[in-house]
Amino acid sequence: MNIVLFGPPGAGKGTQAKRLTTVLGIPQISTGDLMRAERASGSELGKEFDHYMSQGLLVPDELSLRLLEQRLAKPDASKGAIFDGFPRTVPQAEALDRLLQANGRKIDVVVSMEVPLDEMIERIVHRRSCESCGQIYHLRYNPPPSPDACGACGGKLVQRKDDTEEVVRKRNDEYLAKTAPILGYYTQQGIVKAISGIGSLDEIEARIKAAIGK
Ligand code: AMP
Repeated sequence: MNIVLFGPPGAGKGTQAKRLTTVLGIPQISTGDLMRAERASGSELGKEFDHYMSQGLLVPDELSLRLLEQRLAKPDASKGAIFDGFPRTVPQAEALDRLLQANGRKIDVVVSMEVPLDEMIERIVHRRSCESCGQIYHLRYNPPPSPDACGACGGKLVQRKDDTEEVVRKRNDEYLAKTAPILGYYTQQGIVKAISGIGSLDEIEARIKAAIGK
């Protein structure tokens, strides 16, 4: 099964994708996570990603697609994947369809997680994630046992560089201009299920499962 978790920054895509990997036994593919890993390696490519990410801008399609293609070719993605933060433009969505079709696969369902802008900003500026295992927390709604350490692995909790209010507003502008039109593309295919992204993590997980028929 191939699922796209769709929504603005801070909709909860990453948190729910991690939960779904356990339920469905397929990996989460987050181009944002892949880009952050490349950036942390200090490579030239990582520096190029950082140039865009730190300003809240989308990384050019050609670079994002190359990364996605390499990840999709790994054996663990052969039975399906949960796409989180990809596609981000209509050309990326078209390219993903082509890549999947080449292997007789397709996107089965796009779950659109709807969250208003003020809620998004509130979530993002209080978001912390574990440097080691990627676990995501919200300082108020899903607090870690201690403000600096991950409850799952004890790793260091950090705030993403692009999780400031100013950058989030830019990320939202990019979302509205370039990413939101993807919904029209998938709606034409009849595969979009919209859910509210407001509620407890368990409630939202239950809505996603209902939307994907699990
Ligand atoms: P995310 O972790 O999904 O919130 O992504 C963080 C940042 O990485 C975005 O604001 C973009 O700068 C970049 N990024 C992640 N995925 C993509 C993508 N599919 N296309 C373009 N830029 C991306």
